[in-house]
Amino acid sequence: MEAFDFVIVGSGFGGSIPALRLAQAGRKVLVLEQGERLTPQDFPQDWSFRAQARLFTTYTSKDYHVILRYGRGLGGGSLTYAAAMLRAPSAVFEYRDRDDYRVWPAAVTRSVMDPYFAKVEEEMTIERASWSDVPRAGGVFAMMLDKMGKTADRGMYPIHDCMQCGFCMCGCPFGRKKHLGHNYIPDAEQKGAQFRTECKVHHIEKDGDGWLVRYKDVHGIAQVVHGDGLIVAAGALETPAVLLRSKPWLPDLHPQVGKNLNNNGDVAFLFRIPETMPATYPYMGRNNAGVITYAFWEEHRITIHPGAGPPALVAAMDVYSEKDGPKVPLGYDFKHYVRDNYAKHLFPALAIGLTDGEGEVTVNADGIVEFVLPLNDRMKAYIDRVAGVGRQIAEANGAELLRTGGDTFEHGDAHPLGTCRIGDDDSRAPCTPDGELRGQKNLYITDGAAVPGGTGVNPSLTIAANAERIAAHILAKG
Ligand SMILES: Cc1cc2nc3c(=O)[nH]c(=O)nc-3n(C[C@H](O)[C@H](O)[C@H](O)COP(=O)(O)OP(=O)(O)OC[C@H]3O[C@@H](n4cnc5c(N)ncnc54)[C@H](O)[C@@H]3O)c2cc1C
Ligand code: SF4
Repeated sequence: MEAFDFVIVGSGFGGSIPALRLAQAGRKVLVLEQGERLTPQDFPQDWSFRAQARLFTTYTSKDYHVILRYGRGLGGGSLTYAAAMLRAPSAVFEYRDRDDYRVWPAAVTRSVMDPYFAKVEEEMTIERASWSDVPRAGGVFAMMLDKMGKTADRGMYPIHDCMQCGFCMCGCPFGRKKHLGHNYIPDAEQKGAQFRTECKVHHIEKDGDGWLVRYKDVHGIAQVVHGDGLIVAAGALETPAVLLRSKPWLPDLHPQVGKNLNNNGDVAFLFRIPETMPATYPYMGRNNAGVITYAFWEEHRITIHPGAGPPALVAAMDVYSEKDGPKVPLGYDFKHYVRDNYAKHLFPALAIGLTDGEGEVTVNADGIVEFVLPLNDRMKAYIDRVAGVGRQIAEANGAELLRTGGDTFEHGDAHPLGTCRIGDDDSRAPCTPDGELRGQKNLYITDGAAVPGGTGVNPSLTIAANAERIAAHILAKG
């Protein structure tokens, strides 16, 4: 049987970053990735379900309230993310939940994370967008805040010489948006790490002090490899699934695996602006529309950033107006509403905020991910608070807030976290502060599953910095 010092499941930020650091330190590393090795030619400017299905895996919650999806392929979500990479504010690391439990470990503060943030920023070549990089929707949003006497900051991105084509979330066919296939992965390969694509891990088993990893290869043939150490970094939905499928071989699996699912407090909405304001053209420009406001952070612990969304996505959203306008997502009236308003007067925005992770990932009898993210009173109160802020911005500008959700989907689909969270409390957190799964020697979680709560901003930089931090710990352990 093939044997490695470390086997890593998943090649997103959580997987590729430790792969590089371990390979640099001379460890023999194998990364197993279920997705394909994609090239720029595999990123067509195409929002069709067919094209998207190749790049994303999408799940609907058991109660049909929420959609969650993740990017699939060598490089994971980095291929198709909108590439806002921002440091989580200090208060994120101090967050206490409804039981007064400090969600991040006491030893992991913003100042402890700062060197790891800096390391990722350097590898990914992250820089602040210039005003000429900010799409129209972002400029309009900044104007709206300015009118209220509030500020918006230009965002941080690993994007250079952007052509503003508006298709970042289909993958950048021009190579202007950095993903892990530009840095961590080739650097790790150069140091000897192997990345095997179209290899889906089913489950793991203990093998002495190490691990057996059972997967199906590109031909659908069952394979097994040994790792003295194992890192599971299959994303916050699939990491717990790999572990839960392994339960027959891990009867002592921590009971919190799969619990504490947090959607990063994502609440999506749209603004319809008056004719007197400049046109928004939300089909143009980078998909994360260049600015973010922290103006409501102190009071509400939320940030808001505008987006540039494709017409199909906007037309499919379950949007409703608190005043006049659309009441249902589909149908003749709504189509006409989108036709008349989309190009010039609409733009989407996303609030991200600190909430308790009260969802759960499980697997069904076939081993497939299922999840719930209950729309309980706490979540409803949070969404109302976010809507209150959105309304404030709209009313100050003669604009209208269009909400999403209603009685069906709450469209906050991109940022699942926390399902194998690190933490100080043995009973609440499956992983130690340094990412080891409690009770399972030499098994680490380094992806969004390990990030214990909301990040206040888009999460990829925090996931990546935390992966750098855990990789440094693994190496320091020897
Ligand atoms: C449309 C969209 C836009 C986004 N935009 C932003 C943004 O602008 N800024 C930001 O910070 N975040 C953004 N995100 C979120 C960001 O992409 C994720 O938070 C991040 O990529 C998660 O990293 P990860 O390492 O936890 O997991 P992933 O990047 O999801 O990596 C997990 C990998 O594991 C693989 N895998 C899963 N199961 C198995 C298995 N059984 N065997 C083998 N391999 C497996 C998957 O195929 C995947 O490649 C966006 C997400 C989406 C969906
Ligand atoms: S908007 Fe810029 S980063 Fe996004 S796909 Fe187009 S060129 Fe690439």
